[in-house]
Amino acid sequence: MIYVLLISSAVFVGVVFYLAKLVVLGLEQKADEDVLKAKDTYGRIIEQKDRSQAEKAKLEREAVEIFTLYDMTRDITRHFDEQGAFNIFLGKLKESVHLEDCRLVHDIDEGFKGGALPSDYAAFILKSKEKKLGALLYKGLEDKDKEKFAILAHQFALALRRLKLYKDIETLALTDGLTGVYTRRYFIERFDEEIKRSGARKSSLAFLMVDADHFKAINDQYGHLTGDQVLKEVANIIRENVREIDIVGRFGGEEFCVVLPDTDPEGSRVVAERIRKSAERKPIRAYDNTVHLTLSLGTAIFPTDGKLLEELMDKADWALYRAKSQGRNCVVAFGSYQNGGASKS
Ligand code: GH3
Ligand code: MG
Ligand code: MG
Repeated sequence: MIYVLLISSAVFVGVVFYLAKLVVLGLEQKADEDVLKAKDTYGRIIEQKDRSQAEKAKLEREAVEIFTLYDMTRDITRHFDEQGAFNIFLGKLKESVHLEDCRLVHDIDEGFKGGALPSDYAAFILKSKEKKLGALLYKGLEDKDKEKFAILAHQFALALRRLKLYKDIETLALTDGLTGVYTRRYFIERFDEEIKRSGARKSSLAFLMVDADHFKAINDQYGHLTGDQVLKEVANIIRENVREIDIVGRFGGEEFCVVLPDTDPEGSRVVAERIRKSAERKPIRAYDNTVHLTLSLGTAIFPTDGKLLEELMDKADWALYRAKSQGRNCVVAFGSYQNGGASKS
């Protein structure tokens, strides 16, 4: 009996051990599986972290590029001339891409002596809305930088277009629509600047008032359209007979004004006579008409005839009035009127 009890106890203990072992084994297996799962999750988290870091680095790079573009565009728009804008562009370009040379030209042929583009150079045509604005000639651009170069160059093209539009608007505001010379308002601004400059440099300046003779009769005979063409031609005659630095404006109607910097009474007389003779000699073709037109001119000199703009205008106007009353088609200098009166050779 005792044996039976001992044996059954031993069997019971054995079964309990066996079962306990099974439970432990099960728990171990579960723990291994949990560890594997955790490792897997950890691996995925690390992968995700790497991806996020790569993404962050990419975003940072893009942000730097966007800031570069933003900086460049902002700085370029502060410049109102092409060369200034190009210098800013070039500075930013060199910060972002590697290249040996880059120059701005209006035409590809214009960049090098002899015309042809050297074989180590490439051209990037700058255009906006299919309108050609010029070209960038460059060399030594690395392949990896090509895309960045194209983005910056495109941005530069937009800036150039804006500059051009700005200039066009400025020209429209400052020049007379019919004749292309300066408007009265802008002319007076420039005249004032020239007076100040001449005062500072202690040099003389001539002011000419030019008025078409009997223009009303031309309108009456040929009509206003022909009259307009004749006025355009008068402006051309004046421009053709003065220097690049001289300032020509339309004062109103058939009256024009000219400022000749650094000009003394003798120089003033020569230029005024040249304009007068040129009109006298040159019949103007307008539509089907040939119009003979003469000009009268009154002139005044800074500082001998006056130091202020208004004074000079009054005196030239007075001289012009004398020219008209002396028979037209002549030049009267305010200063020399008392000494000799009108000139006509
Ligand atoms: P004077 O020799 O005394 O200067 O005589 P004028 O006929 O030239 O002078 P007036 O001041 O009597 O007439 C100026 C004329 O110029 C009258 C006006 O119709 C004309 N005129 C003014 N502006 C324009 C324009 O833009 N186009 C045309 N076609 N005519 C104009
Ligand atoms: Mg007139
Ligand atoms: Mg007049």
